Amino acid sequence: MEDLKELKKVEQLADQCMKCGFCSFFCPVYQEDKIETSVARGKNYLVKQVLQGKQEFTDEMGTIIGKCLLCKRCVANCPSKTQIDRVVVAARAQMVKNKGLGFIKNFAFRKVMSNRKAFGRYVKMARAFQWMMPTTEGTIRHLPDFLKALGQGRNIPSMAKTFLRDQVKPVYKPANGQKAKMKVGFFMGCAMDFVFPDIGLKIIDVLTKHGVEVVVPEEQNCCGAAIYFSGDFETGRMLAEKNIKAFKDFDYVVTGCGTCSSTLKDYQKYLPDTEDQKKRYEEFEKKIKDSTEFLIDVLKIPPEEFKLKKEFEGKTATWHDPCHLVRYQNIKDQPRAILKALKGLKYVEMANADGCCGMGGSFSVYHYDLTKKIADKKMNGIKATGADIVVTACPGCMINLTDHILRSKMPQKVYHFLELVE
Ligand code: SF4
Ligand code: SF4
Repeated sequence: MEDLKELKKVEQLADQCMKCGFCSFFCPVYQEDKIETSVARGKNYLVKQVLQGKQEFTDEMGTIIGKCLLCKRCVANCPSKTQIDRVVVAARAQMVKNKGLGFIKNFAFRKVMSNRKAFGRYVKMARAFQWMMPTTEGTIRHLPDFLKALGQGRNIPSMAKTFLRDQVKPVYKPANGQKAKMKVGFFMGCAMDFVFPDIGLKIIDVLTKHGVEVVVPEEQNCCGAAIYFSGDFETGRMLAEKNIKAFKDFDYVVTGCGTCSSTLKDYQKYLPDTEDQKKRYEEFEKKIKDSTEFLIDVLKIPPEEFKLKKEFEGKTATWHDPCHLVRYQNIKDQPRAILKALKGLKYVEMANADGCCGMGGSFSVYHYDLTKKIADKKMNGIKATGADIVVTACPGCMINLTDHILRSKMPQKVYHFLELVE
């Protein structure tokens, strides 16, 4: 009998599915491929078959549970609130437990990404070779077709000349001699560290201008999103422990990455194996704040206090909701409140603002054809607004949106919403 410990933890969740099929109207993957196993109902059914001993954990099943963006559109629209994200991630974890990670993921997750210093060293090595990649526009590079798994003609941003970790100071005092209202830990996240360091510095700048003392602990690590959403719970727990320790002295941990904030908050949901872990992960969740919710909900800054940077005056902006903000954390009003209040900026709501952009982490690596089709819908939504700029708060979405904007030969540029403010 196969070990089914991880699956058994979510058995009750899978049982909640009433097989109504309502999720099929909302699942971006099913909307494109019309395959029953792509949608929540099909995946729940398969997991139950395994739990009942009627289905083996085959490699084909691994492919099926891998084909999910974890966008939670099905969960948000399910009449019985079946949490397919938990079921899918548990199934991936069970797969890893029973069949192993495979050489590439084992090396990437356990030898590179789980060790901050090693991760930095490997990315620096990769940066040394990026001149070999053809460039398309500005600092955007084109991955050639021969890099099939990652490439297929996609556009990726260049890695930063100097990573955020090599630019930040350990402590930033509040600006203009203000008395500190609060002291927070800043979680930088890998994409901001390696690709968008200027955005990280900008977020710190905005926080200090609003009277916050910002500390950047050197011991912080990757949040673990790619790792535990792929089912490597063992490494996920190890990273959770490292991050909890790195931020033990703070009441709040602030990040500008929607995926990181959601991943750090959700250690308690996906990872606990013991009651003690559950308790500690729940305590950690309370500290985590995305930059949007920290500014509006914790600091209670009136949105009209934010000033638009000169270079954006007269522009029209539209907002893209990252799945990890809107459905994982219910953050949707806070960034809109700021954008709508910025004098000199015209805000236009996009019809499918909360539709997934098609990234889904490694989903876009294995299913880039589907990613393109899903992103095309997002591109149509952006085009219809007539916006000059697309604003969001997740570096992963920024990378994916930029890829498809360039692929669609559209003129828009993508920004993190705090890049717009003084
Ligand atoms: S909408 Fe919910 S209950 Fe209905 S089939 Fe999908 S997962 Fe099951
Ligand atoms: S999480 Fe998203 S991609 Fe996965 S089954 Fe639900 S709607 Fe489809």
